[in-house]
Amino acid sequence: MTIPDVYDTLTERLGFPGSKLLRAALEETLNPTEAKLVETLPGTVAEVAAKTSVPESEAKKVLDELYFRGMVVPTDSLDSRNAYRFHGRAVDVMDSVFINPRLDPNQGQTFGRKWQGFWKNEGELSFAAWLGGKEPRARIVPAYGAIKDLIGILPQENFHELLKTQELISVQRCACRMRADLSGDKCTHTRETETNHCLSFGPSAELFIHQGVGKRLTLSEAITLSEVIEKEGLVHRWVFRADASPSGMQHSGQCCTDCRIFQALVRGGLDFTSEWQKSRYEAYVTDLDACDGCQICVERCHFDAIQMDKIPGSKRLKAAVDPEKCMGCGVCVIGCGQEAIKMQVVRPPEWIPGVPAGSSI
Ligand code: SF4
Ligand code: SF4
Repeated sequence: MTIPDVYDTLTERLGFPGSKLLRAALEETLNPTEAKLVETLPGTVAEVAAKTSVPESEAKKVLDELYFRGMVVPTDSLDSRNAYRFHGRAVDVMDSVFINPRLDPNQGQTFGRKWQGFWKNEGELSFAAWLGGKEPRARIVPAYGAIKDLIGILPQENFHELLKTQELISVQRCACRMRADLSGDKCTHTRETETNHCLSFGPSAELFIHQGVGKRLTLSEAITLSEVIEKEGLVHRWVFRADASPSGMQHSGQCCTDCRIFQALVRGGLDFTSEWQKSRYEAYVTDLDACDGCQICVERCHFDAIQMDKIPGSKRLKAAVDPEKCMGCGVCVIGCGQEAIKMQVVRPPEWIPGVPAGSSI
């Protein structure tokens, strides 16, 4: 009988006992000494040293290296780092691997294949099962450029205003797009290695900046980035329960079909609204004559909510939005050079958590 080793223990602790695929990914991510130390967490550096018989100075050095790779999280303070914990979920270990800008591109391809192998064969379905049956954890915030001319926009759906509520903003690589890129399945929307898109705030931003994983953004830089994000056709996500206040807000994903949540929802046969609440807005084709049938909106819509219809008397196909499928992200509006598609408000202010009925600016 094989005696379980540290990798088996970590695989079990991360929720996949006996998984050879997760074990292979972990072996690629943590060398045997690192795995031995991580297995003893949570604990102080002195406790880790005592449990592993590794000299305390060496344990401190290894744990610090792991910290700057995002593998362990300090439980005291970012500066002293005398106590650490390991991640509780496999997905958090995976994300930490891929947002790290120090990941060597050549080595990264091996990481990419190993983690993608685990995720696609085991992690994704398990994640989909976890997602199902809960209330949405996030809501879609429409592209500001798609709604800016409309009357009555609430601050809670104005992405620029939401950014203004944050005292500290960081940007880092999107772990999902990096994993896709490094496993050979390149993102068709943007190049994450050239422009980073994933936004964090408050304590998360502080952690990422301290680790050298995230870059601090001024408000003006964050707003400029949000405009790039909208042009590239990525969708703003915001935490479901948050209003415009910073409390509890830590991350805002800028998503496309490479998003692991998006893919898990599709894989699990779940509706997008089981995880993401629609915005108050819906796209509609406002000028059929202006629509030249280019289909750019169809390509930009991540939710498959636009189809091209034959219209009597027209040689060109014309865009038509399916209101059931439309999540109100506004990405199609930004991409339409003919201004043939626009947004309209279809839900009351109280649709947004924390906003009282009858609210307006
Ligand atoms: S609505 Fe705009 S983007 Fe869509 S097909 Fe028509 S012209 Fe093209
Ligand atoms: S049609 Fe698609 S791209 Fe346009 S707002 Fe709706 S979900 Fe977004």
